[in-house]
Amino acid sequence: MTASSALRLLALALLASCGGAESNSTAPARVPDRALAAIDTATLMSHIRVLAADSLEGRGPGTRGEERTVRYLESQFKAIGLKPGNPDGSYIQRVPLVGITPQGSPVLQFAKGGKQQTLRWRDDFVAWTKHVAPEASLDRSEIVFVGYGVEAPEFNWDDYKGLDVSGKTLLMLVNDPPLADSTQFGGKAMTYYGRWTYKYEQGMKHHAAGVLIIHETGPAGYPFAVVQGKTGEQFDLVTQDKNLGRSSIEGWITLDRTQALLALAGQDFAALKARAATREFKPVPLDVSASLTIRNGLRTIDSRNVVAKLEGSDAKLKDEYVVYTAHWDHFGIGTPVQGDSIYNGALDNASGTAGLLTLAKAFAALPKPPRRSILFLSVTAEEQGLLGSQYYSVAPLYPLAKTLAAINMDGLDVAGKTKDLVVVGLGASELDDYARAAAAEQGRVLVPDAEPEKGFYYRSDHFNFAKQGVPAFDPESGVDVLGKPAGYGMQKREEYTANDYHKPSDQIKPDWDLSGAVDDLRLFLTMGYRVAEAARFPEWRPGNEFRATREAQLKQPGPPSP
Ligand SMILES: [Zn+2]
Repeated sequence: MTASSALRLLALALLASCGGAESNSTAPARVPDRALAAIDTATLMSHIRVLAADSLEGRGPGTRGEERTVRYLESQFKAIGLKPGNPDGSYIQRVPLVGITPQGSPVLQFAKGGKQQTLRWRDDFVAWTKHVAPEASLDRSEIVFVGYGVEAPEFNWDDYKGLDVSGKTLLMLVNDPPLADSTQFGGKAMTYYGRWTYKYEQGMKHHAAGVLIIHETGPAGYPFAVVQGKTGEQFDLVTQDKNLGRSSIEGWITLDRTQALLALAGQDFAALKARAATREFKPVPLDVSASLTIRNGLRTIDSRNVVAKLEGSDAKLKDEYVVYTAHWDHFGIGTPVQGDSIYNGALDNASGTAGLLTLAKAFAALPKPPRRSILFLSVTAEEQGLLGSQYYSVAPLYPLAKTLAAINMDGLDVAGKTKDLVVVGLGASELDDYARAAAAEQGRVLVPDAEPEKGFYYRSDHFNFAKQGVPAFDPESGVDVLGKPAGYGMQKREEYTANDYHKPSDQIKPDWDLSGAVDDLRLFLTMGYRVAEAARFPEWRPGNEFRATREAQLKQPGPPSP
């Protein structure tokens, strides 16, 4: 192709993507000053002071702290003048949770012919059942090695090759297939196919009786000790089928025991792993069976998402939504550290919740709401596994096909103004274009997350929207702090992770400077405002793992309009 014909094509493509005469969807529509000015450090700090106070008892789901937190959020949304976000006329979406605790020390048994191997709880394997039932079992379930257990049509990858694995126990490798080609599976960055949660979802999809993930410290990103932490109570949503659609048993097995298991099967781990890194890989039945029974201790908790709405100004478009999310929950009252048992979660996530309330105030200050509606969703039980946002994403109050974008806040900048904004998953969707334009107007830049191999994109509430197809934006505080020496921002961040993260000492600190958070929130306001005004929906970039889900979702005929 000649340069000039390439240019012509590019011009045509640009015209097409702008909808002809319509303005470019990311072209600056100025946010009125009155709304921008509504975001200030005093408003932010006043909310953080309330939310992080000892009187809210660390905002544990199902506790008196929840009661007080929910009451505060509801009263603030009302005072700001926002409508109830639930079509039932309330500000509440109920989120039924169950706490499941494996009892005793179950034993996992492998058998082939007359030969047996017995694996010890915690030392050799960790497993649980998400079934809301007194017990769940594997009863001589045949084990099949399925490589990485991945089905990724956009990478032309299928580890199952049509094999029926219902009732079997799937043995899987963790992380993405490691390919030399950096255009496949995100290169160095982890895609969702690499996350352990995906592996268990694959078990459910294929009606497997069990899923055992092989623990390798490198690809997992953490030692087996972290997995051993999952032997206590785990929370989950109470789905209609009481999670009986999931595999009976989900768990992890050590590399040592995997090697022993494969030796029993007459196979070799290194050889199987090498084959699993190729498209030609086919599942390998091991002709070994697995047996295990797990008994559960159960308790149920009724928790709540809090949701408010600013109705759009366009009669036709007001049924479409831009959603802002921030989790209100933290760990409540727990094991004391240096005599303090209240896990205040000031940064995580009183700050993001204060940001949500402040954004709500800013939107309410607009002389005229944007064409589409804005939803402010404060979700519960993020710390227990993103459960409040998961509940919303499977039981949305408004159709996800009419939800343009989700913008999440989990921890705001407290180190002062920054030159940059860190975007986890930068490059995932066109929301980056909105963010980049808004940042440029502030004289700032977007930078990618420094550790994409750790899969942070899959670890906060926006992810549940992404998984269901909705483009979702995951910003983090910038690290290039104005007026400070290079490395100051990273140092502050590392200090927080080492000293305060998920500890009672996550409290308001005397040196907090919220001026950078104000910049960030104004940027999020500008983004959301423009998406809510735009000519068309933002899209995932080609090659993104959620793009196909979104395309299918937007094709589905919606419910008939009344
Ligand atoms: Zn958090």
